[in-house]
Formats: sequence, structure tokens, C-alpha cells
Amino acid sequence: MRHRTAWAGRAFTLVTVRAGGPAAMMYSPMGSRAVADGEGAGGLSYMRDWLERPGEPASDLDLVVLLLNSLDLLEDPPDRLADLSWLCEVLADVGRDDIGGALTAGDLAGLRELRGSLRAVFRAGSPAEAASLLNPLLVHAAAVPQLVPCDGGLRLQVAPGARGLAALSARLPAALAGHIAHRGMGRLGTCAALPCRCVFLDRTRGQTRRFCCTACNDRAAAQLYRRRKRAAAG
Ligand SMILES: [Zn+2]
Repeated sequence: MRHRTAWAGRAFTLVTVRAGGPAAMMYSPMGSRAVADGEGAGGLSYMRDWLERPGEPASDLDLVVLLLNSLDLLEDPPDRLADLSWLCEVLADVGRDDIGGALTAGDLAGLRELRGSLRAVFRAGSPAEAASLLNPLLVHAAAVPQLVPCDGGLRLQVAPGARGLAALSARLPAALAGHIAHRGMGRLGTCAALPCRCVFLDRTRGQTRRFCCTACNDRAAAQLYRRRKRAAAG
């Protein structure tokens, strides 16, 4: 019988494997979230923590989080926008092939620029600062909502005719602006488990979420446990 335990470390993953013999331990430089979630390297399961309604197509607001977390300091390499493979795999995984199918390698610089602009909104110190960052993006991308047929009725959609990067450039700032207008800035979170700086939208009732995913939550808990143990021993 094979037992395997794993938890995420700062830049490595410590894995203990027992396969009918003495425990073997190894350090892995691979992305630690996937291992901590019980998935193989490159698994996308942790993204469930980033989606509002797992199992349904990701919303434009979900895509804001996914795009920002394409830069993930716990992954190797941290920036998954060196090419389109990670993003397109993610978009397919969350039911948004409509966006991923229209992206080309020529969009990568624009995607990284959009990511930086939206991350600045998460770092904004006030609603006024967020507005000063988002409004130019909305104007530049012509993020105009229009009525489109949907399920026998009509719904508002921003830039409904846009595809690929043009669609993301209009709809993601619009989704983030709509969230801030309705819910304020308090639910825009950045992971507290350093060195991770992934973002999340705090949908808890008491706005108590501190970590981007269960793997970071577990990692922070393990670090706290080790600190307390050292303090007790010292
Ligand atoms: Zn995190």
C-alpha cells in the first residue's frame, strides 16, 4: 500500500512516500498547489477556489481572477503568459472557449498589460483610485453594454461582438467595475500566505477570507504550526 502526504513549501514541495519500505522524502521544484491538492503537476483543481460557481462557465468576473493569477509566484515559472497554453487550457477548463479560441500569440503582450492594469485595481487604496484606474480602461476598450437575446429574453452584455483580447479588454474591466460599484472594494483580496500574491474575490458573509486557495490555507497553517512548535521548544 502506498501512502503519500504532501504540503506546499515556499519554493518546493516536501513529499513523503511509503511503499512497503522506509519513508523516502524528496523536494520537488514543481508547482506546489497541484501536488497539495492531490493532483499531478499542472493540475488545475485549485482553480475551483477562484470560481464563483464551480461547474458552470466562468463569469467575466471569474476571468479577472484567472487572468491575474496567471502570474503565480508558487508556480515554476511564475508567469504562465509566456505563451497561450496555460491560459487556453484554463479557459477551456472553465467553459470559456469562446474567449480562448480567438486568442493568438500576438495577444500575449496585451494580455500581460491588461493583467497589470487590473492588478493595480486590486492594490488601489480607495474607490476613487480604483475609478481613476478603471475608467480609462473602459473608455479605451469601448466597453459599452448592449442588449442581446438570451433564453427567449434579453440580457445586457458588454462589447457583445468582440472576441479574444478585445472581448477581455472590454468585459473584464467592466465586470470589475460593476463588482466595485455594487459591493465596494472590501472583497478584492490578495493571498496572505507569502510569497503567494494571487488574488481572490471574498464571497464570505463576514469578509473573512485570507487565502487564495485551500493549498495556501494549508501551507499557512503548516507554517504557523511549525513556528509555534519552534517557539515552544525554544
Ligand atoms: Zn495563495
